[in-house]
Amino acid sequence: MNKPVLAADTVAIGLGANLGDARQTLSWAVKAIAQLPQTQLQAVSSLYGSKPIDSSGPDYLNAVALVTTQLAPLDLLHALQAIELAAGRERPYRNAPRTLDLDIELWGELQSDATELTLPHPRMLERAFVLLPLAEIAPQCVGADQLQAVREQGIELSQGSGWWQ
Ligand code: ADP
Ligand code: MG
Repeated sequence: MNKPVLAADTVAIGLGANLGDARQTLSWAVKAIAQLPQTQLQAVSSLYGSKPIDSSGPDYLNAVALVTTQLAPLDLLHALQAIELAAGRERPYRNAPRTLDLDIELWGELQSDATELTLPHPRMLERAFVLLPLAEIAPQCVGADQLQAVREQGIELSQGSGWWQ
């Protein structure tokens, strides 16, 4: 489990893409998130590249954004899904390559077992491409032991913090 730490209105959103112009799509997605109602973009991590895990196709690009929001959790989830759709996301099969994936990794200290929105995200601790960028912008959320556990996953810095602008 994560160390405690995020204010109740603060949300860590994981962004990933491995089809099309992934960097361009992620940059567009950050801007779309920044324009959501009742939502303020607080920080965006560097951009990281990684090989697909449990997935296929080209290498992934990933980043994590931190926002504050007054939206209800399911409203934010649905807004993020609308952004995925607008980027051409299709779900032909589980873990298919994707133009854009937006996951809610952490929402304050919220915990939920709901299938539609599980919090923290059930697979965040297995994923270097979530933990590394998250540690960059919210270091209090990621333990040294958690980083250590994903250390051998091939993930590399692709571009520094202003990449999306
Ligand atoms: P992936 O697991 O590869 O991200 P999808 O993006 O297709 O797959 O998401 C599948 C489902 O996961 C969505 O329908 C969504 O309701 C659900 N889900 C559960 N918890 C979360 C979360 N924390 N963030 C985003 N989606 C979630
Ligand atoms: Mg997803």
